Amino acid sequence: MNNATIPGNLSLKPLTTHGKLLSSHPFMMKPIEEIFPLLSEPRQIAITMHQKPDADAMGSTLALKHFLALLGHTVTVISPTNWAGWVNWMPGAREVMDYEKDKKKAEAVLDNADWLFCLDFNIFHRTKGMTEKLKQLTCIKILIDHHQEPDVASFDYGISDTSKSSTCEMVYDFIINSGNADKINTTIGQCIYAGVVADTGSFRYASTHAGVHTMVADLKLRGLEHGIVHENLFDNFLENRLRFIGNVLLNRMEIFYEYNTALISIPKSDILKYHIKTGDTEGLVNYPQSIQGIKLVALVIDRDEERKWSFRSKGEFDCNTFARKYFEGGGHYNASGGRSSDSLEKTVDHFIKAMKENEKLLQ
Ligand code: 5GP
Ligand code: MN
Repeated sequence: MNNATIPGNLSLKPLTTHGKLLSSHPFMMKPIEEIFPLLSEPRQIAITMHQKPDADAMGSTLALKHFLALLGHTVTVISPTNWAGWVNWMPGAREVMDYEKDKKKAEAVLDNADWLFCLDFNIFHRTKGMTEKLKQLTCIKILIDHHQEPDVASFDYGISDTSKSSTCEMVYDFIINSGNADKINTTIGQCIYAGVVADTGSFRYASTHAGVHTMVADLKLRGLEHGIVHENLFDNFLENRLRFIGNVLLNRMEIFYEYNTALISIPKSDILKYHIKTGDTEGLVNYPQSIQGIKLVALVIDRDEERKWSFRSKGEFDCNTFARKYFEGGGHYNASGGRSSDSLEKTVDHFIKAMKENEKLLQ
């Protein structure tokens, strides 16, 4: 959706400055700062994130959970779906509820919640099967997110800031700005650091502004052992995943030099042959970026229910617009995702046409 949807069929363009959403309009969510004075009273709090949570979604929700629990709240994290096994090392990950697996219990938590925090997504349909449930809830809904084009009308309070490196950075800001810096411990630091490392491509993307490094320095001073996080994020896979990557790079990658584009398309047969599970394909889209001159990388995986796309670009190519226009998706300027109900062959053809249409932007 292009504009925030406002009750009464009015459409209003979000007011933004430097990527930060201004919330002065009466129909818009109230600024996150207005929640701070309300933090002192103990509440039932649910926290959720986008489906198939990645390190930023899981890290930010867990960091917020640990923080709010220290303030005396009763807090439950609910994921709309399952998640990659390699995320389970994060402190608290094993207590996260899987809505698909434990629907009744999760719905009871949601029904009982005074507040619902929504992290690392900004429109309910990113929670897949949980979408309708979230729409029905009447509790206070609070957004903390860094993606483009938020559906601000769905939230009571919040902050949407596309200039932020990660939702984890925003949870750090939330803790600091609410006057609770002293609550940051090594557990919270690990969760925050994991999401920041993941969402900045290990401090590489343009989103890594100076404040990200200042924050990490602060986390280090508060006891963060960063090496443990790197090991858990990058050295924590099984042999089959490495062999799968070898096969993909050898047999499933096509380079279109005249369009500075790399395409990886993975059939279901590879997923089955190499016993690939949720999360095993994370990071695969980054490999072709190491080829000189590549500006756009597209990865499509034939999943059971749909063909899932990931896009990454370097410099001036807007992956968010591309994913929205051609693949019912979205995300950030240099990293986005999308989907298709077509067969793998058909959606790949659609991509090649789209790439050709964008020839000028890819030069
Ligand atoms: P990934 O390729 O890692 O799945 O996603 C890259 C970025 O795009 C992430 O920030 C993710 O949240 C976002 N993204 C992925 N798929 C979709 C989608 O279908 N719709 C929207 N709006 N964003 C997506
Ligand atoms: Mn994120």
